[in-house]
Amino acid sequence: MNTHLNTQSKSLTYLVTGGAGFIGSHLSEHLLNQGNTVFALDNLSTGNIDNIQRLQGHPNFHFVRDDIMNQMVLDRLASQSDIVVHLAAAVGVQLIVERPVHTIETNIMGSEMVLKTALRYGCRVLMASTSEVYGKGIKIPFNEGDDVLLGTTDKSRWAYAASKMVDEFLGLAYWQEYGLEVVPFRLFNTVGARQTGQYGMVIPRFVQQALRGDPIKVYGDGTQSRCFCDVRDVILAIAGLAEHSDVAGKLYNIGSTEEVSILALAEKVKTQTGSASEIVLIPYTEAYPSGFEDMQRRVPDIGRINARLDWKPTRDLTEILTSVIEFEKSRM
Ligand code: UDP
Repeated sequence: MNTHLNTQSKSLTYLVTGGAGFIGSHLSEHLLNQGNTVFALDNLSTGNIDNIQRLQGHPNFHFVRDDIMNQMVLDRLASQSDIVVHLAAAVGVQLIVERPVHTIETNIMGSEMVLKTALRYGCRVLMASTSEVYGKGIKIPFNEGDDVLLGTTDKSRWAYAASKMVDEFLGLAYWQEYGLEVVPFRLFNTVGARQTGQYGMVIPRFVQQALRGDPIKVYGDGTQSRCFCDVRDVILAIAGLAEHSDVAGKLYNIGSTEEVSILALAEKVKTQTGSASEIVLIPYTEAYPSGFEDMQRRVPDIGRINARLDWKPTRDLTEILTSVIEFEKSRM
């Protein structure tokens, strides 16, 4: 059991795996602003050094470029930390379909190493999981207590969900068997500045296409829908769970409940950028390699985290798109 952690104290030391990633860099910045110390561990496979450039001079920020599979490094960092926020993972639908072995190995072995190491040093663990776990569920909204419905094992997209489910099982088992404080949370579509469109995420892709005047490519018929949550809201939820003393051993959904179809999203991006781009429909068979299945709807039930932390998203889709457009313009 974690004995040395005092969540009432103002300053804690965090190990953020995936700390140079999209979510990890926003979270690290927030934790530093709250007076904490942050070790950011990232192998820069999908993370980017530019994401943490502004943090590099901070006296309480320590970036370590290495892999979560490096036990010596994990030991060194965890031994100095109170809380581990485990965000490092193979993410992005495209990456997952193209590199299924890498996805399964990184997600399962990486989490196993993080949990084992956290147990050794008595660190609380916040573990990122994903709404992909709900798979093709049709009972909307998705509640943490719902059964899950995944596709078949010859469709590699589901390897991601299955690997994250193993992570959740393992994390909850560490809590049940060893009393390690583990808090798995399922992230729904998280968006904002610094997200890369390289691995398939729709909002940065649409914004880049619109700003370049290229066709905005909607996959399928565009009736599929998602709820997009601003990363600035998401990190408040993660930090809230990290600081809360009575949340371990339970799963938490983190996401927005503002649902939008992908076609309506494309139209909104076009309007907000003032773009002349045309919106085109691309059949799934052209958009993705074989082994892909899309999800029609994905809406979280955020009642549990709201009851615990009084958390709910504060930024709507218009505000989210404004920040992404501003970011993408600054990059061009
Ligand atoms: N999508 C799209 N055009 C793109 C990228 C994605 O129409 O360039 C669609 C994708 O098929 C899915 C939705 O947008 O229906 C969200 O995709 P994303 O990869 O961002 O997240 P997912 O919810 O699939 O993990």
